[in-house]
Amino acid sequence: MKIIGMLGGMSWESTSSYYRLINEGVKTALGGFSSAKICLYSVDFQEIEELQRRGDWQGTADILSSAARSLEAVGADFLMICTNTMHKVASEIEDVIAIPLLHIADATADKLKDDGANRVGLLGTRFTMEEDFYRTRLNDVHGIEVVIPADDDMDIVHRVIFEELCMGKVPESSRQEYQRIVTLLQKDGADALILGCTEIAMLIQQRHTHVTLYDTTKIHVMAAVRYALDRSGMNL
Ligand code: GLU
Repeated sequence: MKIIGMLGGMSWESTSSYYRLINEGVKTALGGFSSAKICLYSVDFQEIEELQRRGDWQGTADILSSAARSLEAVGADFLMICTNTMHKVASEIEDVIAIPLLHIADATADKLKDDGANRVGLLGTRFTMEEDFYRTRLNDVHGIEVVIPADDDMDIVHRVIFEELCMGKVPESSRQEYQRIVTLLQKDGADALILGCTEIAMLIQQRHTHVTLYDTTKIHVMAAVRYALDRSGMNL
């Protein structure tokens, strides 16, 4: 079994989901007392969030690159960045390590393509919804068309992530707002929806909507478990 290097803490709420889901995946595959081999470097999200807000992405890349080097040094066989947003600096991180990076957007795109979904809605932080690093990768590299919410609704989606979900709060009123926005994305032609933020599954699950959900946390985890166990075809 390969050792999984997790770059987490962004937020710790979603990293705890990653930790549980990865271990459940390994146990399902191998049975008995089996559990995943994991090195976790959990950062202080306060520092990352302040740098994000100031637009100091180089500052975030420096912190995460140094953490990634530590994970490699203690024996991680591959790396996963446990947040969609921080894939904005994925290539800077890749540049300082020799182990492979399991990119969350590639794992998600592979699943979408397997299922034949080619026009999808995207919810995530404003950075993920609006900027090129994620949408362009889905579109240019994988040929998936991405629909995002209107500007005002992007504000709501972003605010709920940082002010509520990353703080461990899951209010019903926000679920209703998200449901309203999902319906609009569907009207815009989205035939599936990417939960492109690792906390959103705390708020919206498949029972809350008719649109097929692609939870990036779960998809990233499944890809990591398959890679760690060397089982490309395994369906967890
Ligand atoms: N976990 C979130 C994501 O998947 C947001 C937190 C962050 O800014 O990293 O994008």
